[in-house]
Amino acid sequence: MNKKIVILGGGESGAGAAVLAKVKGFDVFLSDKGHIQDRYKAQLDSYGIEWEEGMHSEQRILEADEVIKSPGIPTHAPIIQKLMALGTPVISEIEFAGRYNTAKTVCITGSNGKTTTTMLTYHILQKAGCNVGLAGNVGKSFALQVATQHFDYYVIELSSFQLDNMYDFKADIAVLLNITPDHLDRYEHKFQNYIDAKMRITQNLTKDDIIIYWNDDEIIQKELSKYTISAQKKPFSLKKSNQVSAYVENDSLQVVTRFGTLSLPLSDLPIKGTHNVYNSMAAALSASSLLIKNEQIREALMDFEGVEHRLEKVAYVKNVLYVNDSKATNVNSCWYALESMTTPVVLILGGTDKGNDYNEIKELVRRKVRALVFMGADNHKLIGFFGNMGIPYVSVDSMDAAVQSCYEMAQKGDTVLLSPRCASFDLFKNYEHRGELFKECVRNL
Ligand code: ADP
Repeated sequence: MNKKIVILGGGESGAGAAVLAKVKGFDVFLSDKGHIQDRYKAQLDSYGIEWEEGMHSEQRILEADEVIKSPGIPTHAPIIQKLMALGTPVISEIEFAGRYNTAKTVCITGSNGKTTTTMLTYHILQKAGCNVGLAGNVGKSFALQVATQHFDYYVIELSSFQLDNMYDFKADIAVLLNITPDHLDRYEHKFQNYIDAKMRITQNLTKDDIIIYWNDDEIIQKELSKYTISAQKKPFSLKKSNQVSAYVENDSLQVVTRFGTLSLPLSDLPIKGTHNVYNSMAAALSASSLLIKNEQIREALMDFEGVEHRLEKVAYVKNVLYVNDSKATNVNSCWYALESMTTPVVLILGGTDKGNDYNEIKELVRRKVRALVFMGADNHKLIGFFGNMGIPYVSVDSMDAAVQSCYEMAQKGDTVLLSPRCASFDLFKNYEHRGELFKECVRNL
């Protein structure tokens, strides 16, 4: 009898995993408690895969030999708890697809900068002529591509939720950008649980593999000392030292590669801010580990256009620059966005609180922010924290009102920054929706 695989969640990763499982000859059933988008239903139907939506047929799910769980489903969901009690293996789509993948993988994780670094690494490899796929949290699912395409390389963005259910998977090149508190609501409000998930990026690495990480991150340093890692280490830092493989010297990015040291003035990097210097170092080290030539890396770093919703310049209106950083969904990303600002800022904050500690950005807010706009269904926590700092603020519950308030409060030469630092689910469908609306409202000014 065929092994029974049940897939929980019918989004990009679930639908892709279902196709791969079907192609590999398993008995496949997909169940989604919510709604499945039409394009995924069509995909499942075209492969003759059975699916259900709006419910979980518990008995059938509990009969599974193995379950592939969408990263969106928390471990504490009742159905997952029941499966765990039965001892049924619950894995992620990446773990499953990894079993059938033969391409080399660059796997990128961190609390912030994953998508930017993933897209930049992909851009470098593609421009250098590699046959490379893009997977994980961005683009098409890894599983679907493994089932239907052939690549020599994959650049894969991994969230902590994907890493949670990865056990035997191994990266060829692992990238760990940083670890700061995020998603604590999914980790029993214990930072260490979240850290442990992120550190899974290092699991199963062999001496032929490479780990690239931010050397100045105290948490990464502390954690790495707990593990025996035989992979070659390539740390990066702003400071030059014997240990690091990439650093900044004389206002230039320096990347030590097999072909010598690649040097690029920071002013030639199109993506701005210290955080993007880190992301560029990580991407350059990944590409050089795959023996891409220095000149090709340099050219690709110089013409990378950045990613939508990440410090994206929208427009100048009456000499005020409007910047969309809707993807800044935690306190640390907002810190970097603010730090990269060179003018006074009118800052839009707000959204669903994920158990955030706002102290981290308080000093920067004091130094850089002219006015604050709190935008959310419930702004009392923000008002309580920032309201008595002597900075003018308004509290609104729509994007329209937020942008209008910014327009009124900003002065010539200022920057209006949407860097909400929180998830977006109170007023918007997701961060993309929030960013699109921001851009629309700015264009209507
Ligand atoms: P992720 O995919 O990890 O969420 P993104 O590349 O989408 O990261 O960037 C999200 C936001 O995080 C950006 O808008 C920027 O403000 C901030 N950011 C980007 N890279 C870094 C980094 N290396 N360190 C800290 N913050 C960063």
